[in-house]
Amino acid sequence: MKIFVTGGLGFIGSNFIIRQIDKYKNQIFNYDKITYAANNENLSKYSDNALYYFLKGDINDKSKLIDQFNYYEPDYIINFAAESHVDRSIDGPGAFINTNIVGTFALLQASLEYYKNISGHKKNNFKFIHVSTDEVYGSLGKKGYFRETTPYNPSSPYSASKASSDHLVRAWNHTYKMPCIITNCSNNYGPYQFPEKLVPLMIINCLKHQSLPIYGKGDNIRDWLYVSDHCDALYEVMLNGRIGQTYNIGGNEERSNLEIVETICNVIDKKLPSKKINSYLDLITYVKDRPGHDFRYAIDASKIKKELDWKPSFSFERGIEDTIQWYINNENWWTNILDRNYNLERLGDL
Ligand code: NAD
Repeated sequence: MKIFVTGGLGFIGSNFIIRQIDKYKNQIFNYDKITYAANNENLSKYSDNALYYFLKGDINDKSKLIDQFNYYEPDYIINFAAESHVDRSIDGPGAFINTNIVGTFALLQASLEYYKNISGHKKNNFKFIHVSTDEVYGSLGKKGYFRETTPYNPSSPYSASKASSDHLVRAWNHTYKMPCIITNCSNNYGPYQFPEKLVPLMIINCLKHQSLPIYGKGDNIRDWLYVSDHCDALYEVMLNGRIGQTYNIGGNEERSNLEIVETICNVIDKKLPSKKINSYLDLITYVKDRPGHDFRYAIDASKIKKELDWKPSFSFERGIEDTIQWYINNENWWTNILDRNYNLERLGDL
């Protein structure tokens, strides 16, 4: 199968591509703008692999996309390309509007033009998969879960831009009959995640004996999913998902931010006991909360479990242990990022 991936040099896209090439031997065309969040090193091992082709490009560039679609003739298009960090969306929402909304519009228009020009088996099987987030549903109180029928109620510039893109995708399916599916997933963690996000930031700060800044009291709750489980869910959706549907994807692993950081400290205390401090827990500090910080997200993933027989294979305990080990083993990967363009600051505290 030929899969056209946008944003495949980022965290989830890289993990998806690695699985597609190594496990399923599918052909990948990776189209990525190479923003600060992209990392060529993630996929450099495929530079001579016949199953992998990379092109630098922006999803806003409709004519370039059409050229590539016509040249490559993908069976599926999967859209990971996005500005993805809530804190950055608070500081600078413009890029989020440009890529997540206007860019998705251009990508949809290009995909539609391609879809109109294909025929037969290729047309009957074609799907456009849009990768989105549970944040579009807004914030929950202590109880309840997001279902596919939960009304959208986004509250950050990031989630509002993703919600807008979801609406566009739904409209292109409904109006132009382009075969689209949307997925809304909870927080991912795992290898290759840019260190601005909570899990890698805290692991790396522990390894560098730097403070572990926690927003507010650390009581905001998220549902966590190991990235390879998300990638498997996306593949299931691609192969067997119903056109025009939305699938919620989650790990049923709710944790407060403080619990996440404490777990990371406890695991690293065992793996690499510090000679300088009693415990990495001593590095925890509390900083001013993120403006408009949603309290709780929790996913009801029963639809994808029932329809597509998908369920997570990693418990949070196993996934976080593997993740920590990956960052310990791959120090070069993250030190290169720190040398290049990021100095582990908490972003977005206005
Ligand atoms: P990421 O920030 O790590 O990677 C995004 C990638 O998109 C980068 O490689 C970047 O260069 C590329 N990109 C950005 N703007 C582009 C443009 N205009 N044209 C082409 N490429 C562009 O993001 P991620 O964490 O891998 O998330 C991927 C997708 O999954 C996003 O749509 C995000 O909203 C969604 N999502 C993420 C999570 C999570 O926990 N990370 C959870 C649910 C959904």
